[in-house]
Amino acid sequence: MIKIFQIMGPPGSGKGTQAKMLQKKFNLEYIGSGDLLRSRAKIKDFTGRKIGQEIGQGKRASTPVIFKIWMDKLESFKKKPKLRGFVLDGSPRTVFEAKMLDLALEWYAWKKERKVIFVRISPQESISRLTKRKICAKCGKIFPYVKGAAKINKCDKCGGPLMKRSDDELHDIKERLRWFKTDVLPTIDYYRKKKELIKINGEQPIEKVFQDILNGIKK
Ligand SMILES: [Zn+2]
Repeated sequence: MIKIFQIMGPPGSGKGTQAKMLQKKFNLEYIGSGDLLRSRAKIKDFTGRKIGQEIGQGKRASTPVIFKIWMDKLESFKKKPKLRGFVLDGSPRTVFEAKMLDLALEWYAWKKERKVIFVRISPQESISRLTKRKICAKCGKIFPYVKGAAKINKCDKCGGPLMKRSDDELHDIKERLRWFKTDVLPTIDYYRKKKELIKINGEQPIEKVFQDILNGIKK
């Protein structure tokens, strides 16, 4: 039996951090669409170049492109004899993608236990967190907002300077919140109706959110 965790939540909910914590705790593989798209953009064919441009414009990757990347990843997991499972960070983004993903998982015929985790924070909290977080100008590591973060100006990974993310300008944040509401919330509802959804209060310290997730997935 493999474990599949899907983590969803509005921008700034800390779902990426929680995904990494789950990955570590259960020794799982990780699928983060952002990372995969950035590495795909390094291949300079039509799709790679277009992804590169669209990332710069803050656009969302097209569904067939994202599924091609996911399917390749799932195929590589299928080759691992000791696969324990994987974490899907921040996806799917529409009900259509959720249904596609169900079919994709069916295709690979794993004996699986799937949990969908919704890390909920309010739109006000999203805006407040995103306007305060920083990114390393050199390696791209994201530094979520925490108390005392104003003092941190250097990347602990590469020593590069930290800046506010360009796509974190208020207008863009509101745009991302808008599509979260129109596209992602119905997707979350899709899992709720299937009784697969675990709802977590994301407006708590990171460790407490993680503990709630651990308690939630046990049930
Ligand atoms: Zn860095």
